[in-house]
Amino acid sequence: MTRTISILGATGSIGDSTLDLVRRHRDDWRVVALSANCSAAKLAKLAREFGAEIAVVGDAACLPDLREALAGSGIAAEGGPAALCDAAARPVDVTMAAIVGCAGLAPTMRAIEQGRTVALANKEALVSAGGVMTAKVAEHGTTLLPVDSEHNAIFQCLSGGRTEDVRWITLTASGGPFRTKSQSELEAATPAQAVAHPNWDMGAKISVDSATMMNKGLEFIEAHHLFPVGLDRLRIVVHPQSVIHSMVEYRDGSTLAQLGPSDMRVPIASALAWPERMDTPCEPLDLAGVGELSFFAPNEDRFPATRIARDAARAGGAAPAVLNAANEVAVAAFLAGQVKFTQISAISSRTLDSYAPPAPRSLDDVLAVDAEARARAGTLLEPA
Ligand code: NAD
Ligand code: MG
Repeated sequence: MTRTISILGATGSIGDSTLDLVRRHRDDWRVVALSANCSAAKLAKLAREFGAEIAVVGDAACLPDLREALAGSGIAAEGGPAALCDAAARPVDVTMAAIVGCAGLAPTMRAIEQGRTVALANKEALVSAGGVMTAKVAEHGTTLLPVDSEHNAIFQCLSGGRTEDVRWITLTASGGPFRTKSQSELEAATPAQAVAHPNWDMGAKISVDSATMMNKGLEFIEAHHLFPVGLDRLRIVVHPQSVIHSMVEYRDGSTLAQLGPSDMRVPIASALAWPERMDTPCEPLDLAGVGELSFFAPNEDRFPATRIARDAARAGGAAPAVLNAANEVAVAAFLAGQVKFTQISAISSRTLDSYAPPAPRSLDDVLAVDAEARARAGTLLEPA
């Protein structure tokens, strides 16, 4: 049976992987909405290829280019944050939420309000909104399926299990491109080095997060909301081969792990087909070829981000939204050559120290905290 899908963030890395699967299973899917921030030419090309109903650019300044590129196609073209939310509210069986950053929060919330299935790649949205988002999911009876490879792995390992029987959830981390670098090498790390991830091909922001280990910190908070076993039952282990995507240990001593190639099409396919399975063209796992799997405790002296995120998770309330906003500002500044690599975590930590607003109770509260934390983090940017 044909199912309908909208992809928020269709021109990014997750968008590409999702559309690759849709392309390979063309008869199973009808595409409703596709969005991008700008990239009008790429978005229009995809909208035409997949016969989308509507294409939306988040940045309204890019709308004239989109309109021109879609002229005569019969595909609606819209622009701006409100249009993006309206497109996300169009009824579909599955929404792939794959915008990067808190910019994806409002449209993801609109998709959640449909009460259908939301495949969530956009971890920053859940980290920022936390209970505001999970309450919305519960209110509308929405199926929220994690796409982040670790959380998708945990979701699979938990199926058939009871959270009260869980002893540990272990998030694996590759350690990123700087895992073995010294503190002085980290001080001098460049954006080009940071985005060159050894195992995964991803967007620039998450690649930098991977290098600082803030990605794992955000994922720790994400896991806390998706799998409410308590923060004391969540831990992180560095596993450089990225073969085991995460693990669940039950109280009888059984540990279940999900393994697979480092290809996001595996967790995306798992979410798109859930509770069934679909074919992917991914390389089968060649364990003899991998040879050895290794595991290390995270080094929080060189990579303080996981500690900062754990503290923010413990503080709860608005702290994760403040952390996420500050990190987004700091990562953008690093990518623009404005601050050093090691300042990214320092800016996040200092923003958290300077700003402790009350717990957000609504989407508007979360967005207000996000805006204020961005402004404060902006004042902490010092030249590299
Ligand atoms: P990306 O930078 O490649 O793509 C981001 C997408 O969001 C693009 O379509 C872009 O146009 C759109 N976008 C960016 N800013 C926007 C804005 N202000 N308003 C509207 N749209 C905007 O990022 P990605 O690597 O595909 O990551 C997307 C999300 O998935 C992130 O939250 C990331 O953490 C998560 N994720 C990615 C991977 C991966 O392998 N790439 C793995 C796990 C989780
Ligand atoms: Mg991940």
